[in-house]
Amino acid sequence: MTALAISFADIEAAAARLAGVAHRTPVLRSRTADERTGAQVFFKAENHQRMGAFKFRGGYNALAAFTPEQRRAGALAFSSGNHAQAIALSGRLLGIPTVIVMPHDAPAAKLAATRAYQQGQSGSEVVIYDRYTEDRAAIGQRIAAERGMTLIPPFDHPHVMAGQGTAALELIDEVGHLDALLVCVGGGGLVSGCAVAAKHRLPGITVVGVEPEAGNDTQQSLAAGRIVHIDVPKTIADGAQTQASGQLTFPVIQALVARVVTVSDAQLVRSMQFFAERMKQVVEPTGCLAAAALLEGVETWRGARVGVILSGGNVDLPRYAEMLATPA
Ligand SMILES: *Cc1c(COP(=O)(O)O)cnc(C)c1O
Repeated sequence: MTALAISFADIEAAAARLAGVAHRTPVLRSRTADERTGAQVFFKAENHQRMGAFKFRGGYNALAAFTPEQRRAGALAFSSGNHAQAIALSGRLLGIPTVIVMPHDAPAAKLAATRAYQQGQSGSEVVIYDRYTEDRAAIGQRIAAERGMTLIPPFDHPHVMAGQGTAALELIDEVGHLDALLVCVGGGGLVSGCAVAAKHRLPGITVVGVEPEAGNDTQQSLAAGRIVHIDVPKTIADGAQTQASGQLTFPVIQALVARVVTVSDAQLVRSMQFFAERMKQVVEPTGCLAAAALLEGVETWRGARVGVILSGGNVDLPRYAEMLATPA
């Protein structure tokens, strides 16, 4: 067996780089959630992280580890979502130029937020491409070659995975023993980092991944014993619309994650409503995946202490309002 891409030491190194820069996000409790599930539930609120999602942890950790030469040339990312904002903000904080390659139909709010982080920083820009007529990989390769920039992928990178794992490390260091940890799964950067941290601190913990029903590529991959590719899934969980887990994340998931379960879009909507109404928390659809598995009874942990990562809170307001108004 080959070694996994990251170890606990990498997560400790990430925690040191992030100290005083990333927010130590709050751990939230809810009597209603505890009553409904019969468990003691500890929500790690990464919707309160800088730029609104845990992705800041991995993005900043990756850029902070750059050599002086990499810092001068800058970082490149393809993303229309939270990874774009994570790289743009991290670059600004570290004085590293960033180029973010985004599709022409990216949500206006995400484009504006990304540009706002880059504002006034020379060498930083958003490059727009037409997803129907242009190849984003070719665009990225051209820019990377011309400017010598380092590409930072959204999940399949050791520093990204290690940075994401600091969310679970903080949670466990704050609340102590947990029987289970529930984590959403897109490409698997968050769950792989969190699993390495959690299993090191609490070897007996059960780590469960949660995917959208329509996009259960990781669940299929675990069953098949190899990485399965699926078509772009149709789900409101836009942060988990990945088609396959990563070459580096999948072996970690195979080794340390007990199982991957799925939840439906309707279950995500009910969970968003729960967070808004009961806990006064704005959680984006993808951010509700892990919580929905517990609140909707897909996972049962009566009498247990359960950690749940709320991964982010970035959602366009008109869409959010519509989902809150959907009859549950
Ligand atoms: C990116 C993202 C995910 C999925 O994370 P992976 O590391 O790709 O598994 C989940 N929730 C939110 C809010 C995200 O931005």
